[in-house]
Amino acid sequence: MTQPTVCRMVHYTSYGSKDGRYDSTCRAAVVTEVHENYDPPSVGLAVLNPSGIFFDRNVRESDEHKPGTWHWPCTVVPTPNLGEPVIGSVPGPDNSAQEES
Ligand SMILES: [Zn+2]
Repeated sequence: MTQPTVCRMVHYTSYGSKDGRYDSTCRAAVVTEVHENYDPPSVGLAVLNPSGIFFDRNVRESDEHKPGTWHWPCTVVPTPNLGEPVIGSVPGPDNSAQEES
């Protein structure tokens, strides 16, 4: 399992609001310190919320997205309303530069 290191980007799971107005959700965060010797290990984070930054020096990892924890950036699930992917619409690599050599 990859260990976090200072400066890596991770996800922080926000707590959301108690009144339910804001759901618990993934936020971008930068690892500011690593506590490998803590039990369980934890990291310090600078969490980048859309409207502000906050810092936490002791955040544990949780792949279950428990509020107040971090995880490696999770896969974005595509929304089903985008229709079928259009095959062949993406141009291939441009090889013209290699042909000149
Ligand atoms: Zn996430």
